[in-house]
Amino acid sequence: MNIEFSAEDEVFREEVKNFLSTNLTDEMRREAERTTTVFADKDLAMKWQEILVEKGWAVPAWPVEHGGVAWTPNQKYIWGQECAKSHAPGLIPLGLRMLAPVLFKYGTPEQKAEYLPKILSGEQYWCQGYSEPGSGSDLSSLKTSAVKDGDDYVVNGTKIWTTHAHFADHIFCLVRTDTGVKPQAGITFLLIPLDMPGITVKPIITIADDHEVNQVFFDDVRVPQSNRVGPENEGWTVAKYLLEFERGGGGAAAGIRESIESLKSVASKECDGQMPLMNDPSFAGRVAELEIRNEALHLQELMTLEKLSKGGSPGPSSSLAKNSSVDINQEINTLKLEAVHYYGLPNANKISLNGHNDEWVGESYSETVTSRYINSRASSVFGGSREVQKNIIAKAVLGL
Ligand SMILES: Cc1cc2nc3c(=O)[nH]c(=O)nc-3n(C[C@H](O)[C@H](O)[C@H](O)COP(=O)(O)OP(=O)(O)OC[C@H]3O[C@@H](n4cnc5c(N)ncnc54)[C@H](O)[C@@H]3O)c2cc1C
Repeated sequence: MNIEFSAEDEVFREEVKNFLSTNLTDEMRREAERTTTVFADKDLAMKWQEILVEKGWAVPAWPVEHGGVAWTPNQKYIWGQECAKSHAPGLIPLGLRMLAPVLFKYGTPEQKAEYLPKILSGEQYWCQGYSEPGSGSDLSSLKTSAVKDGDDYVVNGTKIWTTHAHFADHIFCLVRTDTGVKPQAGITFLLIPLDMPGITVKPIITIADDHEVNQVFFDDVRVPQSNRVGPENEGWTVAKYLLEFERGGGGAAAGIRESIESLKSVASKECDGQMPLMNDPSFAGRVAELEIRNEALHLQELMTLEKLSKGGSPGPSSSLAKNSSVDINQEINTLKLEAVHYYGLPNANKISLNGHNDEWVGESYSETVTSRYINSRASSVFGGSREVQKNIIAKAVLGL
C-alpha cells in the first residue's frame, strides 16, 4: 500500500476540486454545514446523489459493471478528502453503502438487476430493520417472525430505532424463521417494500428534538419468498457482513480532519480570559491528541480501501474504525461546546438586550454546537454500541 500521493494523484485532486467548485452550490454547502443529524437532510442528499450519478462518481466502491469507478485507494481517499473540505453533503449510506455490498455478495442475479439500479438512481430509499425492543446488542435474540405460507412469508413483530423509516420506501429486515435452533441459526434476511398492507411507521423524537428514528410494526405482512437474500436461516451471516460496511466501510478521517480544523478556528477566536483557547497548552494538547488519533484512523482506512479495491470486505477491524471515529468525533463536539460555552445553548445567542428583542450575541458558529453535541452521543450506540465493538475487537481482531 502506497500512502504517498503521486503526481497522478495530484492531477486527479485538481479534477475533483474543479468538479466540486462547479457542481456544489454555495446553498448546498451551507445546508450541509448546518446539518446536525447523523444523516444529511433527505432532499439535500438526494439532490447531490443525482449530480454525482450523472458524473458517474456516486459509488466509487461499487464494481465498475454496476456503476462504480476504477479509482485507486488513494484516489478514493482524495475524493473523500476533497468532499469533506468542500462541505459536500453526505450521501445516505443505507442503500448505497450497506445494502448494495450485501447484494453484490449474496443477491441473486434477479435481485441485483431489480434493486441496484434503483438504489443508485435514488428511486428506492432504504432503511435498516435490525433492532427490536429487547434485541439491540443481543441482536440474535430478535423475535419478529416470518412464517412460510405458499410463496410468501407472513411477517409479524416490530423493529425499533429505524433511522429514516419515515422517508424510506423499503426496509431490509432480519426475521426469525426458526425458533428450535440456537438463535443465530434461525434468522433470515428479507427485503420488504414499506407500502405493503400491515406495516405502520411511528415516529420517535430524540432528546436532540430530531425526528430521525422510528418504530416499525408488521402485522401479517405478506412478503414474497423471492425477497429473501441468501438461504433461509442463514441471515445472520448476511447481517454481519452488512455491519462490517456500516461500521467501517467509509472514509471518516477526512471529514474528521475538517471538523478539527473548524474546532481550531473556533478555539482561536474564543478566549479563556484574555487568551485565545488555542494558546492554552492544555486545550491545544487535547486538540493535538485528536489529530494524532485521526492520523491513525486515516491509515487504517487506507488499508480498508486497499482491501475493498481487491474485492474484500472491511472485516472485524471495522469495529476498531467505528470506535475511533466515534470517540474522536464526540471529543471534538465536547471541546467545541467547552469553547463556545453558554453561547452553545439552543437559542442562547438570541437574547433580549435592554429591551431590544432579537439581538444576537455570540458567533454564528455556536448555533449548531449543542445540537451536534447531543446528537453525536447516539453514535456510540447505533451500529452496535462502543462496548459491543470492544468485545468484537477482543475476540475477532486480538484473538483474546
Ligand atoms: C440514533 C440511533 C439510530 C439507530 N438506527 C438504527 C437503525 O436504523 N436500524 C436498526 O436496526 N437499529 C438502529 N439503532 C439501534 C442500535 O443499533 C441499538 O440501539 C444498539 O445496537 C444498542 O442496542 P440497545 O439500544 O437495545 O441497547 P442494549 O443492547 O440494551 O445496551 C444497553 C447498554 O448495555 C451495554 N451492553 C450490552 N451488551 C453488552 C455486552 N455484552 N458487554 C458490554 N456491554 C454491553 C451497551 O453497550 C449499552 O451501553 C439506532 C440507535 C440509535 C441510538
